[in-house]
Amino acid sequence: MRFLITGGAGFVGSHLTDALLQRGDEVTVLDIASDLKVRQHAGNRKFRYVSGSVLDRRVVESLVSWCDVIYHMAAVVGVEHYVSDPYQVLNVNVNGTQNILAAAEKERKKVVFTSTSEVYGKNSSVPFAEDADRVLGSTEVDRWSYSTSKAVGEHFCFGFAKRGLPVVVTRYFNVYGPRLDRVNAGRVMAIFFGQLLRGAPLTVIGDGRQTRCFTYIEDAIRATIAAGLVKEAVGQVINIGSDEEVTIHDLARRMIRLSGQRASIVFVPEVEAYGRGYEDIRRRVPDITKMREILGVAPRVALDDGLKRTIDWFSREGTTAEWLAAMDEPQTEIEFPPRNGPRA
Ligand code: UDP
Repeated sequence: MRFLITGGAGFVGSHLTDALLQRGDEVTVLDIASDLKVRQHAGNRKFRYVSGSVLDRRVVESLVSWCDVIYHMAAVVGVEHYVSDPYQVLNVNVNGTQNILAAAEKERKKVVFTSTSEVYGKNSSVPFAEDADRVLGSTEVDRWSYSTSKAVGEHFCFGFAKRGLPVVVTRYFNVYGPRLDRVNAGRVMAIFFGQLLRGAPLTVIGDGRQTRCFTYIEDAIRATIAAGLVKEAVGQVINIGSDEEVTIHDLARRMIRLSGQRASIVFVPEVEAYGRGYEDIRRRVPDITKMREILGVAPRVALDDGLKRTIDWFSREGTTAEWLAAMDEPQTEIEFPPRNGPRA
């Protein structure tokens, strides 16, 4: 089969690319980011990397007409972006998704839309089944721009589904593993790892009692592939996650223990870490019944095991000069409409 993966040079997209090529499928990646995470496939005639944006309708239309299934993963992701540039979060995530869905409808192609556990917001009633309420804070808190942008994307999916488009919505819960982020930046594990490496104390934000269910990338990818292939998934929203809940304080302690380093932990007030545009989510736990029953996938990799593999990768490869330099490239500098005016 032929797969288009928008955002395929990102963390989850690059692992999906690996797995689909491994199955013998053809993959085209559309991304504005460096090809670092998919460079291992250069020279494979079943693989193509197209440097471009989901905001570029011409490119999107031509790639959509080439493929059988679209995994739409391109988005501005990461808490630092939600709080520093909510405009781009909304712009890329909402307008890019519209472009993909419109092109898919024209060509009658199936879309798997990558959504997020952030859509549940701060709903305090865990675990979250897919039909759980969304509980968000004020629009003055920039963090909610991401949740809102993805929820709008989901609504667009359902809107197009009503008109006959086959769509699947996947909501990911804190996926982690090799190639996650550059050390010291992005998601919590990459930050903690950078601190371990520098011998600096691990910065637990808030009281550390907030929880997450970290999902190892291999488990997430098995579910993602099934979401694109299983007929029963069409028209569904499906949580992709693990149900092993851990506090962030405990995560820090585990990472110290598993890395074999001697490091301390400091508690940093939320406002000091992210300013007033941030509000944390206290507990985030998925109900994964649909993942098990519709996709036939259950998480296999326990947190300690996945952490060991991730720490090992960061120690060997995540800190090479090539990796650090490429990950410094800007990844979200897109204007919409473009400065030179909208395309005809
Ligand atoms: N966090 C932390 N220290 C850091 C970075 C993040 O304690 O240096 C916390 C953050 O406040 C949140 C959790 O780790 O409670 C997960 O943060 P991340 O940005 O990885 O993703 P989120 O699940 O909030 O989208």
